[in-house]
Amino acid sequence: MPGSSFPIGKLFGISIRLHFSWFFVFALVTWALTTQYFPALYPNWNLATSITTGVITSLLFFASVLAHEMMHSVVAQRSGIPVKSITLFIFGGVSQISREPDGPKVELRIALAGPLASIVLGGIFWAIWLTLPVTFEGIIAVTFWLGWINLLLGVFNLIPGFPLDGGRVLRSLLWWRTGNLRQATKAASNIGRGVGFLFIFGGVWLIFGGFWINGIWIAFIGWFLQNAAAGSYQQLAIQEMLKDHTASEIIDRNCLLLPPDTTVEKLVNEHILPTGQHCFIVAEDGHPRGFVSLQNIKTVPHKLWPGKLVREVMTPLDKLSWVRPDVNLAQVMNTLSQHDLSQLPVVEDGNIVGMISRDNLLAFINTRGKLGI
Ligand SMILES: [Zn+2]
Repeated sequence: MPGSSFPIGKLFGISIRLHFSWFFVFALVTWALTTQYFPALYPNWNLATSITTGVITSLLFFASVLAHEMMHSVVAQRSGIPVKSITLFIFGGVSQISREPDGPKVELRIALAGPLASIVLGGIFWAIWLTLPVTFEGIIAVTFWLGWINLLLGVFNLIPGFPLDGGRVLRSLLWWRTGNLRQATKAASNIGRGVGFLFIFGGVWLIFGGFWINGIWIAFIGWFLQNAAAGSYQQLAIQEMLKDHTASEIIDRNCLLLPPDTTVEKLVNEHILPTGQHCFIVAEDGHPRGFVSLQNIKTVPHKLWPGKLVREVMTPLDKLSWVRPDVNLAQVMNTLSQHDLSQLPVVEDGNIVGMISRDNLLAFINTRGKLGI
């Protein structure tokens, strides 16, 4: 998912983020509840009551989506797989689980946890709805709708199209049977694309039938599913390919050693702009002290460059994320994306021997992709 999301808090050590497309759905759900659902049930409600109840219901709806993702994430963390964040966006939620599970049983547990949470929540809302006396009309309308939407969320996610939870369940079962993650992913991803195309087809059919809002929505979901299914297989194939190569293959060893009292202005004007070089090590008496990246330089306002020294802007060696030359490139890619870095120093025996940039890694992947190897 492209950027444009921001953090809203932390739960169980997992950062919760909102994507901007979330606001669109929030508004849409609130609008549909306020103008259609509540007035149909309670024509005597005034607009303020409808809007307030609509907003509260929408918030509870997103809390339900969050609970679904939280269950995936908590089970993943319990299985030793770190979860970076949960992002709520236009189609619901997505957990950024840092890596593929180690085995099919773990994947099955993680995949089932979410839909199970939704179905249980749905049951709880309906239990409240059934036991409340009819005089609690607001709460009755809200709990009925939330029960229904949570059950729908649980069942929809169990559709066996990867990367939906049901697709993950399918993949884990195939993986269990064949012992081959790549083959299992390929099969599950193909079925996922098929499900995506069915949604697109169904959506277009509805559009021609005159139900164009629902039709566009369903076709849109199908398009998203189809893309995600194709993307997740590609991603796995890339990871597998990268596992066979080490960091040493793409190190840029032309790093420049800088004295600590070099000014940022001098660095930019004499080294970065004329040569396009990106790898700068701040060294004192032959010992590396830190690393300067374009990201470091960007944090200093332009007009302060003449007075700022590289040792003031560098990332010191002990605070630096780095890799050894013999780690595999899949790990390098994970480190880059986990810390959101564009470059990564390679360190051997306490010395920085070079640098790996995201661009180099992408070029490596692209070239191999084009050659089909
Ligand atoms: Zn899920």
